Amino acid sequence: MIKFTCECGEVYNLADDTLGKTYRCRKCSKVFTVTAGLQGRAQQAPKKAWEAVKILLSDPMSGQQRAAQAMGETGCVEAGLVLCGVYALAEYFFPSTKVPAILGGAQGGQRGFNLLLCDAAPAAALIVGFFLIGKIFGGKASIQRSVLVSGTALLPITALLLLARIASGGNEGLLVGAGLFAACFALLLLYAASVEIHQLSSRKAFFMVPVLILATDYMTNIAVAQLMKW
Ligand SMILES: [Zn+2]
Repeated sequence: MIKFTCECGEVYNLADDTLGKTYRCRKCSKVFTVTAGLQGRAQQAPKKAWEAVKILLSDPMSGQQRAAQAMGETGCVEAGLVLCGVYALAEYFFPSTKVPAILGGAQGGQRGFNLLLCDAAPAAALIVGFFLIGKIFGGKASIQRSVLVSGTALLPITALLLLARIASGGNEGLLVGAGLFAACFALLLLYAASVEIHQLSSRKAFFMVPVLILATDYMTNIAVAQLMKW
């Protein structure tokens, strides 16, 4: 059920499948398109995130454009933020000193809102980085799509953090291997996104990704240093 309020204040309780459809208001006669309220959107976001993941699992390279189109611009933000949020929470609750710092490794220290912000910093830096560096290379992606790209590119790292937690105290060699594995996946996803979402040539994407990684690491370090001073 979607609770929708017209500009004139008339409230409608509409079925879920009316989302995106247009109606004429019975009170003010204005035509409106049904959009989900904030609560509705928040409930839809994890579903959208899972939807994006499913498309990418079926076609990790050229599925990126399809996933972004299926989500719509707002959907990209919602799904991307859910995935970035899961990553930040994994960093927060399952910090691992064995996960290399360049993969967004743990900052350590005491728990708190500050630390949660620090843990979200790599995701924020990646979003800004993918958007700005991509633009510098002549890319076409919107900031909304950059959010989705960043969320999906961080998924392998999230999985790595979970694995590090499960294998804690266990095999260090396994984690180094898994770290390489996760890094490769993240890089491949970013390369594919540079080609698919930014529509860069493979040559430009080839150079963009390493620059992006450096910029993300640099921005993360600055953000964390500032947050720690707080
Ligand atoms: Zn109305």
